[in-house]
Amino acid sequence: MTAEIICVGTELLLGNIVNTNAAYLAQQLAKLGMSCYYQTVVGDNRERLLEALDAAAKRSDVILLSGGLGPTQDDLTKETVAEYCGKQLVMDEESKKMIEAYFAARDLKPTENNWKQAMVPEGCKVFPNHNGTAPGIAVSARKNHFLLLPGPPEELELMFEESAVPYLREMSPSVILSQTVKTCGLSESFVEQQLRDLIDKQTNPTIATYAKTGEVHVRVTAKADTAKEANKLIKPMVKELKARFGNSIYSADEGVTLEKALADLLSSAGLTISCAESCTGGMLSATLINVPGISELYKAGFVTYSNKAKRKLLNVKKGTLQKYGAVSSQTAEEMVKGLIAETKTDVGLAVTGIAGPDGGTKEKPVGLVYVSCNVKGKVTVKECHFQGTREKIRRSSVTTALMLARICVLEYLSKEILK
Ligand code: ATP
Ligand code: MG
Repeated sequence: MTAEIICVGTELLLGNIVNTNAAYLAQQLAKLGMSCYYQTVVGDNRERLLEALDAAAKRSDVILLSGGLGPTQDDLTKETVAEYCGKQLVMDEESKKMIEAYFAARDLKPTENNWKQAMVPEGCKVFPNHNGTAPGIAVSARKNHFLLLPGPPEELELMFEESAVPYLREMSPSVILSQTVKTCGLSESFVEQQLRDLIDKQTNPTIATYAKTGEVHVRVTAKADTAKEANKLIKPMVKELKARFGNSIYSADEGVTLEKALADLLSSAGLTISCAESCTGGMLSATLINVPGISELYKAGFVTYSNKAKRKLLNVKKGTLQKYGAVSSQTAEEMVKGLIAETKTDVGLAVTGIAGPDGGTKEKPVGLVYVSCNVKGKVTVKECHFQGTREKIRRSSVTTALMLARICVLEYLSKEILK
């Protein structure tokens, strides 16, 4: 069963509003297991809408339309679809009553054109609108099913979930489910290479990789008649991914970010954390503090941008700064040692680097960043060479710091177990 989306509205064509309905509807179709190959935007114009309807009807079974169901002259979706399907418009008594009730509840009087909204193509199914006045409509003609939904997103989304989903489910009972396995510290090409055999023979479930700053996500997607069956197909594949990528996987849950995974790890081990930042300027702390409940483990953050601040607040030696510079593994090491001495936390993270666009030299180019981690006195320093804008270099530094903390804590915990 194929579906496509037509969004009606001159405002969309002019770029006055963003077509969020198309994104919403496309996601919903994917969840329902319906393939969607086309999206069209067309203005409030009868001829062009007729053309769009004709093109869509020739290539798709289900056509979702959004917008143009309102009471005004320029709202012509319903009339045009009825015309295309060769159906008369008739008064729908239920919709008329709902419009009356809608206005009565607001102590308003409907105007003549409001009744236009209660007119529906003969033989259609009406979807009630609990957030507005225009009812939705499902009308079938020849081999096509047209679903007409109101333009305002809050009306469209509620109606879609309440009425369109059950209607479409009856037509196409399959579901598509997916699960995302999130890795960090691996390159996308490495991940793909490790998955080559699985990708080559994939049918159901399918796997696909997506790269994010410092992370690669692997999405496993299965199609089945029920959610239970789809999950049954997904599970063994996720297990296989866990076997292949081990500790590089920080979560197999779509909603868990790297910072959340680190916070959970620290929390389960009963460890506290603090940060000292130069080029990231507080971004690392801010990222960690995004995680609700972090106050249990996050204790303090220093933004030590100048050499003086590094010396005063973190006790970095003057000689170290003079001999090796602020961006050096020696400074990163002293920063994280000073941090722990100051905060008495179990884990410390420090970042120092050149975010650019200026300030780089041949020996120390823009993108050179040192990240250090201290877990109960054991210090690890990582030298990184990032590319890109100032923003990107700072973001990469934050992700790398979170990854380094994760690795160092896991290492510490595995040694603790052996003790
Ligand atoms: P109304 O009864 O409000 O006139 P309608 O069904 O006729 O609703 P439109 O007139 O096409 O819908 O659009 C009404 C409003 O809904 C727009 O001004 C816009 O705010 C929002 N809207 C319409 N289409 C979209 C879309 N594709 N994506 C996001 N918002 C939209
Ligand atoms: Mg309108």
